[in-house]
Amino acid sequence: MPPRRLVIIGGGAAGFFAAITAAETLPTARVTLLERSLQVLGKVRISGGGRCNVTHACFDPREFVTHYPRGGAELIGPLHRFQARDTVAWFAARGVTLKTEADGRMFPVSDSSATIVDCLMQAARRAGVQVRTGCEVLTARRVGEVFSLELATTERIAADDLLLATGGCRVPSGAQLAAGFGHTIVPPVPSLFAFHLAAPWLTELAGTSVGAVEIRVAAAGLCERGPLLVTHWGLSGPAVLRLSARGARRFHDWKYQFPLLVNWWPACDAAQFAIEIQSRRRTDGARLVKNVPLGNLPARLWETLVQKSGVGPAVRWSALTRTQAEQLRGQLARTELPVVGQSLNREEFVTCGGVELSEVDFATMESRRCPRLHFAGELLNIDGLTGGFNFQAAWTTGWLAGRAMAAPEARR
Ligand SMILES: Cc1cc2nc3c(=O)[nH]c(=O)nc-3n(C[C@H](O)[C@H](O)[C@H](O)COP(=O)(O)OP(=O)(O)OC[C@H]3O[C@@H](n4cnc5c(N)ncnc54)[C@H](O)[C@@H]3O)c2cc1C
Repeated sequence: MPPRRLVIIGGGAAGFFAAITAAETLPTARVTLLERSLQVLGKVRISGGGRCNVTHACFDPREFVTHYPRGGAELIGPLHRFQARDTVAWFAARGVTLKTEADGRMFPVSDSSATIVDCLMQAARRAGVQVRTGCEVLTARRVGEVFSLELATTERIAADDLLLATGGCRVPSGAQLAAGFGHTIVPPVPSLFAFHLAAPWLTELAGTSVGAVEIRVAAAGLCERGPLLVTHWGLSGPAVLRLSARGARRFHDWKYQFPLLVNWWPACDAAQFAIEIQSRRRTDGARLVKNVPLGNLPARLWETLVQKSGVGPAVRWSALTRTQAEQLRGQLARTELPVVGQSLNREEFVTCGGVELSEVDFATMESRRCPRLHFAGELLNIDGLTGGFNFQAAWTTGWLAGRAMAAPEARR
């Protein structure tokens, strides 16, 4: 029997994982990976600020999927078969140890994405994967029992099984290939972005960070807590990135124009606030309100919030009236900021949108429209929050697709 021809389009995290898994599962197959650029694993190289946040130390699939604004439900089954713990073991078996940071993010102990790139390339070489760069696939179609691919070089390639792992569909070529097989493409919009604000009084404080705020977009019913960073344009930091991901499509529809409410000290409710005010009156009565921050807020931010609340610069804690205290509490608990735009986070960004998930069998990553066509990675309408969740989706779907392509008889 001639060797089975398994072809993978896309030399990113998902494509490599699928190609290695397929070649290791079925050594007699001829596994070819086609990458259009001259270098493979480009995003892995730049990921995590050059450190590559490989996955997240959360080993319960049901909890893990809460970090995916889109695709979480579909990933539960796949994660029961290949989850973060399996990623750690996979890399360990190939000589790469991962470490966990305090917030759960996992990186190679080398703190260098080159370790991950080298590991994947070596594993592909050992498994006999043929990696071809500078090979852009222009068209792919089914001709009888096989797939026929046309490359930009005009070369034609035949495949018995095909995987599309072309990444986020902001670059349309992969989406076009999928659409050519009858798949629906959920239109791409950015996820994981920072907010631009029309609030110069705040952006003048660029560089200020606050440990634990609550931000809310009431019209979208969305609320997040966590660290916040004031930038020259607006707001960034973990709480903003999470909120941007959860509301990605709605915010896009609103052209990134909506009011954002910030509670600068969410741990403090009205009763606690009254106690704090009493305490300041006793301990700092002679000092100016603007000079004694509450809730460990940065001094400049506090001074600005006091001014915005309408409490004058000469008011001392001992002289703060009940009305002024209420004004202060209102400002602290509900600062309304006008969001007027967005900019992509430089550390990590992904696309929301891609191949419609109901058209894919998540036991095998096989198309429900075209037998022996598979999908993996960001081309699917799956995206996660920052923290290693996007790579884990690529490893998991790539692994499942690779297994199914290599061993169709043992697909489930
Ligand atoms: C700056 C940055 C940092 C990031 N850091 C992290 C991180 O630390 N942790 C994390 O979990 N996620 C991170 N992400 C997200 C993560 O990189 C992606 O989710 C992940 O790379 C998706 O993998 P993929 O294989 O699906 O797609 P990609 O990595 O995008 O790979 C797809 C490949 O397909 C190729 N291709 C496309 N069309 C064709 C065609 N027609 N023919 C041939 N080849 C084609 C592309 O050139 C590309 O190489 C980061 C993203 C960015 C942009």
